[in-house]
Amino acid sequence: MQTSQDLERKLAAIDRRGYPAYKSLRGRYDFRDFVLSIDHVQGDPFAAPSRVSLMIPAEVAGFPRELSAEPHRRVALEDTLCRRFAAEAAHVSFNVGGSGKSGLIATSRPGPEVLARSACEVTSAGITMRLEVGFPAHGRTVDARALDTMLFELIPACAERSLLADTGALAAARAAVELADDQHAVRCALKRQGLVAFVADGSILPRASGASSKPLAGALPFQAPESMALTLDLPHRGAVRGLAIRRGITLVVGGGYHGKSTLLQALQDGVYNHVAGDGRELVITDASAIKLRAEDGRPVHATDISPFITNLPDRRDTRTFTTADASGSTSQAASLMEAVEMSARVLLIDEDTSATNFMVRDALMEEVVAAEHEPITPFVERARALWEQAGVSSVIVVGSSGAFFPAADAVVHMECYRAFDITQRVRSVLAAHGMAAEAHTDGEQVSWEHVRTRRLVLDCGRSGSSQRGRRAGASRGRGGSRGRDDRRPAKLKVQGLDGFSVGEHAVDLRQVEQLVESEQTAALARMVRLVLERGLLDGTRSLPQVVELVFREVEQRGWQALDETGAPGCGLALPRPLELAACLNRWR
Ligand code: ADP
Ligand code: MG
Repeated sequence: MQTSQDLERKLAAIDRRGYPAYKSLRGRYDFRDFVLSIDHVQGDPFAAPSRVSLMIPAEVAGFPRELSAEPHRRVALEDTLCRRFAAEAAHVSFNVGGSGKSGLIATSRPGPEVLARSACEVTSAGITMRLEVGFPAHGRTVDARALDTMLFELIPACAERSLLADTGALAAARAAVELADDQHAVRCALKRQGLVAFVADGSILPRASGASSKPLAGALPFQAPESMALTLDLPHRGAVRGLAIRRGITLVVGGGYHGKSTLLQALQDGVYNHVAGDGRELVITDASAIKLRAEDGRPVHATDISPFITNLPDRRDTRTFTTADASGSTSQAASLMEAVEMSARVLLIDEDTSATNFMVRDALMEEVVAAEHEPITPFVERARALWEQAGVSSVIVVGSSGAFFPAADAVVHMECYRAFDITQRVRSVLAAHGMAAEAHTDGEQVSWEHVRTRRLVLDCGRSGSSQRGRRAGASRGRGGSRGRDDRRPAKLKVQGLDGFSVGEHAVDLRQVEQLVESEQTAALARMVRLVLERGLLDGTRSLPQVVELVFREVEQRGWQALDETGAPGCGLALPRPLELAACLNRWR
């Protein structure tokens, strides 16, 4: 490995030369206390910034091993270090002048969710911190002295202040790891006690605004009704009381504007852990929970929606339903069956974002439009079977229809942001109307699980043709007889949370609500590219198998698995397997 002196000499040699001279700096340099690696050099001062990483050996950083001993602890430690470095970098970024991105020093700036990120990786060997650095220039002339200042003073100072286990960093890391322990303990309790979610008393559910993820100031803290309350004994906080949402069918009812959707939104975000101060630290939901909604216009690929939709007027086979442009009801049915395919254990449904005809049909309508002319069996008639036969629970927000009452195991009433248990009252009302709660489904067996064997084969156009060359010669090999262009990775374009494209194919993710950061979208784009390059959708594997292969590879090889150059840079965050499936299912 080269040394920091080598880097200084190289810098001196290229001062005031044309910008491409910076390319000669690529490589790894030993700075004694850390290794600085210049992984990618930008083409000009206005291009995407250069990628630099720091590797600080574990002995130098000095964090006790137990702080990264388990996956949830390691992610919490990485998250803390990333936030600390980002804050330091913000103070020194653009401190040297120049054109374009000259002087930029940055890494990921996480939102309230604690996610595994490429920005910071902790292993038993040490801490890898990945940065974006704007190599400075005047016009297009190299300013080597300014870069010298950045690489030898500013960046090492940021690292020293944020990544070494002095008292401040150690206290911050311990606090984050202890919170992660408690969150992990709640997740374990959900499994052990058969819960879908836990909402701790005192949680702040609403956000400041639609555009902000900050807690709403002055909000009424959540309080569980006594009959639905559970007290968990957490390793650090001790006894914590909260609402236990049990497996089965839970309804959330109440008047408009009383906090129903806010509760459901908190549950859908509860698949992720949140940082201290967010208000939702102990709102924890089964990590496989899926927000199910109508999404008209989405494509559907060979999905069995026949439990909900049969006898379409054009006689299309709904057991392998394919369309480029689904309706509200068919899109929601397809998303539901895809959730079952991926073994989701919980559906989160809000009437606000559902197709009414997918959800319910009333008696008057049944009298007027005979059942044989209605292709849809509404969700209200299937929710019970889905739970009893496939083990999929539902939490359903319904303010407008009592049709779900007979199917419910529990009913929460939201009134002025307070939760009440009205399960018994609903039972009495049903009894008074001569209706019984559905103890079990009325015999009809619906086939759910077989969707898990669906073989998804996507028409991948040009990327598809390059797969063959790739598979023959593995990813780094020379490949078959195809030209060079075929082996070049497909171009990725990421549009924030809205979606991405790989080559000429686009994926629209605007209605995939549980993506919370554009860094997840960026990772998904690369995952999809990996799926295409490896030709994994060749009809020999089910979709869940493909998704599992990708996640296993990322787990084993780290973020490198998603980058051809072996230097992924910061800017990637781990999505859930469910969202990768959502991307493949929305492929165009
Ligand atoms: P619903 O779905 O029942 O119509 P929402 O959940 O959309 O109602 O909530 C309506 C409004 O009330 C939102 O603006 C939300 O921010 C606010 N809100 C929700 N929960 C609380 C709370 N605990 N304290 C204060 N305001 C809240
Ligand atoms: Mg609502």
